[in-house]
Amino acid sequence: MTQQPVTAVYLTAPATQIVTNELRTADHITETGGILLGHHTHDTVTVHHAGTPGPAAVRTPTFFLRDLAHAQALADEAFANDGSVWVGEWHTHPTSRPIPSARDAATYGQLLNDPELGFHSVIAVIFARHAGRWEGAAWACRLGRIEPVRMQLSGSTG
Ligand SMILES: [Zn+2]
Repeated sequence: MTQQPVTAVYLTAPATQIVTNELRTADHITETGGILLGHHTHDTVTVHHAGTPGPAAVRTPTFFLRDLAHAQALADEAFANDGSVWVGEWHTHPTSRPIPSARDAATYGQLLNDPELGFHSVIAVIFARHAGRWEGAAWACRLGRIEPVRMQLSGSTG
C-alpha cells in the first residue's frame, strides 16, 4: 500500500451518520466537530469512523478544539476494531465559508510536523452554513500546502 497525495475523501455510512447527526443537532453559533479515523490507500482516504466533539471540547463561534481524552478513546477503539488510524478531523464554520482558517492551517501544520504522529496528509472536512443548510468541503494538508479534494458522503451523490 503506497500513499500518494490525496485527491479524494470518502466517508463510509457509519462515519456519515455520526457527522450528519451532529450537524442536525448542532447549534448554528458555535463550532463543532471531531476526529476522522480510517485508511489512506493510494490517492484516497476512506473514513471509517468520525468522532463527536466530546464533553470537554472547546467550542466558540470561530474555533473548535477536540476533547483529547474523548478522541483518544475513539481512536483506540477504531484501531482495535479495523486498524483505522487518525487521518484528520472535521469541524463546522457556522458563520463563514468551508475553507480552513489561518488558525486551522496552523493546527494542521503542527500535526504534520510531529514525527510521532506520522501523518502523510491531514484531511480537513469543513461544513459551513449556506442558504439554510450545511455545505461540506474536504481539504488535504501536506507540506505547507492545503488543496481542495473531492469528497463523497455515503448515500449522497457527492
Ligand atoms: Zn476552522
